[in-house]
Amino acid sequence: MQFLRENGLLSSSDISLLEPERATVDDVALNHDLEYIEYVHRISDRGGGMLDPDTVVTRGSYEVALRAAGGGILAARKVASGEFKNAFALVRPPGHHAERRSGHGFCIFNNIAIAAHTLLREGVKRVLIVDVDCHHGNGTQNSFYSSPNVLYLSLHQWGIYPGTGWLEEVGVGDGEGYTVNVPLPSRTGDREYMYALEEVLIPLADDYKPEFILVSVGFDTHYSDPITMMRLTSVGHRRIAELLLNVAGRFGGKIVFMLEGGYSLSAIPRSLANMLCVLAGIDREWGDKEVESIGLERVKGRVEEVKHALKPYWSF
Ligand SMILES: [Zn+2]
Repeated sequence: MQFLRENGLLSSSDISLLEPERATVDDVALNHDLEYIEYVHRISDRGGGMLDPDTVVTRGSYEVALRAAGGGILAARKVASGEFKNAFALVRPPGHHAERRSGHGFCIFNNIAIAAHTLLREGVKRVLIVDVDCHHGNGTQNSFYSSPNVLYLSLHQWGIYPGTGWLEEVGVGDGEGYTVNVPLPSRTGDREYMYALEEVLIPLADDYKPEFILVSVGFDTHYSDPITMMRLTSVGHRRIAELLLNVAGRFGGKIVFMLEGGYSLSAIPRSLANMLCVLAGIDREWGDKEVESIGLERVKGRVEEVKHALKPYWSF
């Protein structure tokens, strides 16, 4: 926020800053069991505890997690109504690892799943969730694993937490084909990542024709991130936003980005500012150094495997 403020983005007439509203328990219950919501409330009220070895709850966590979920809902509603062209829900804690009955991987409530459920409840029939966090969004995938109303596409580093997201996980029942996983090797860089995203996202979107796109944004794909091994740059993060905005534009343009992970405090400000400028139509870019990456050939093979797994469902 300091970086955005110092660079004049928060005072730009092209950007509005809204305070998130608290999600109601009914909103959160669209994606989580009441017993779990009450459990988080109780732990938070009595001063804190752990939901799993990574996931800390402190005295304020319940309130903050409700506001994070509320921020996603607010962003989705403002864009659904046409009041705003797009939005970025700049919230923490993140959400995509949170399951129906449990919190995991720093996530308490699954903000993006709650926003998607809210859109479905309000009449949207086809939501596309694109998860560009470095980790697989197990919680989001499971929320919609048997639903054709939400197409979940995740690109992630393979072999790290949470261990899910292999390309053969394609959904079940009515949702078969509506989960698409692109597990990528470590040291994937901007060029390889954009190749994989374009090759998979564009044909999928053409077939599915999403009415609304929600994006789980993790800046932990950045080369400087301390807990992952990808090689994206802040310029790459800008390219991702450009592509997603472009794809959304072909289907009515409704798109909301939501913050998930990202642990390099030096990288997040530049990556975020680049994405916000794309969303707001501001012609500014914060550059980054060039980094060596794995090379396109290694990623091309994986993308072919993904297409092969999804061929029964989509016209790849
Ligand atoms: Zn992550």
